[in-house]
Amino acid sequence: MSEPYIRLHNVGKTYQTKNGTIDACSDINLDIKDSEFVAIVGPSGCGKTTIMKMVAGLQPYTSGTITVGGKKVEAPQTDVGVVFQEAIMLDWRDVFENVMLQVDIRKMDRSKYEPVARDLLERTGLAGFEKKKPYELSGGMRQRVSICRALVHNPKMLLMDEPFGALDALTREQISMDIQRLWMETRKTALHITHSIPEAVLLADRVVVMGPRPGRIVEVIEIDLPRPRRLDQLSPKFGEYSTQIRNIFKSKGVLAMD
Ligand code: ADP
Repeated sequence: MSEPYIRLHNVGKTYQTKNGTIDACSDINLDIKDSEFVAIVGPSGCGKTTIMKMVAGLQPYTSGTITVGGKKVEAPQTDVGVVFQEAIMLDWRDVFENVMLQVDIRKMDRSKYEPVARDLLERTGLAGFEKKKPYELSGGMRQRVSICRALVHNPKMLLMDEPFGALDALTREQISMDIQRLWMETRKTALHITHSIPEAVLLADRVVVMGPRPGRIVEVIEIDLPRPRRLDQLSPKFGEYSTQIRNIFKSKGVLAMD
């Protein structure tokens, strides 16, 4: 069997605060294969964001080991694209230049990546919006720009932290479809954090179900559904996976997961 691309081995994180220590997560063991799409679903505060930040090298871990591409994570990763809940954009840059920000920060060759940025914008329905400023866009469009920016430098790994959290239901569905399509075209190794069960089942090859704080992995469920998956053509199996995950949460005393 080939080595996993991302490996978390006995990983734990304790935050030191002025009011004492907070155990965000513990005993996290997870292998993510190259080109696999893994979703982590769990209640608020179970350490999902912490795990993503540790994988990205943005937050040190307290115990265990994380490796990406066989190398121990000890500093911010570079071969990565990250999408956060809020689309963080520079108001004085237009849409195109906000995507190119990734290239500028990394001091990469603009001429090489400009066609990539244009292509990504087109593939996410933003052709014609290149010259718009962020404040002229809807929330969904801003998040699409963030996704383009996360992919423009062709990273191996795509990390997404509740990327649809701030969006209305319809826009969430549309952007889920965009993410699925882009992932099918690029096959990035993807880690997607969410508290939405249907979103996790829709997008992931495997869903990691976490229990309440201190977050631990309760179960990892393989989603054996053909792609592309469509929310308007759900199979009974989709419902069964969702029910299975909801029942795990119920058994852990977590009730309100959509
Ligand atoms: P989730 O993404 O599942 O909502 P987080 O990883 O954001 O969970 O947080 C897990 C726990 O760690 C929460 O109790 C949160 O308050 C705490 N926490 C997160 N970041 C910090 C920090 N920088 N300092 C102190 N505590 C933190």
